[in-house]
Amino acid sequence: MDDKLSRRDVLQRGAAFGALALVGTAACGKEQPKALSCADTTSLSSADVQVRTSLGYMDISNQPGKSCSGCQQFIPGPPNACGTCKVVKGPINPQGYCKSFVAKTA
Ligand code: SF4
Repeated sequence: MDDKLSRRDVLQRGAAFGALALVGTAACGKEQPKALSCADTTSLSSADVQVRTSLGYMDISNQPGKSCSGCQQFIPGPPNACGTCKVVKGPINPQGYCKSFVAKTA
């Protein structure tokens, strides 16, 4: 049995691999779901913005295991939308966090 690849074999396999790469790239080119942003404070009073800022609200938690969705103060919104909070005014990201985090109890 001849294990050598002919030039034709190499070119054909290379073309097939290139076609697969193109298909894969096209599939990956699908639009990714946009990350939820709940950082718009334009409708808030300056006092409410100040509370939000002083409590260190952030749209994405930097505290492992602590996020608004797991906080007693969080009021969920519709699916894939911002919720609200009993302490911090304005839109609240379920993945957010602030210094007033209190873990939900079971
Ligand atoms: Fe999120 Fe803070 Fe409100 Fe808890 S108190 S839901 S951590 S903003």
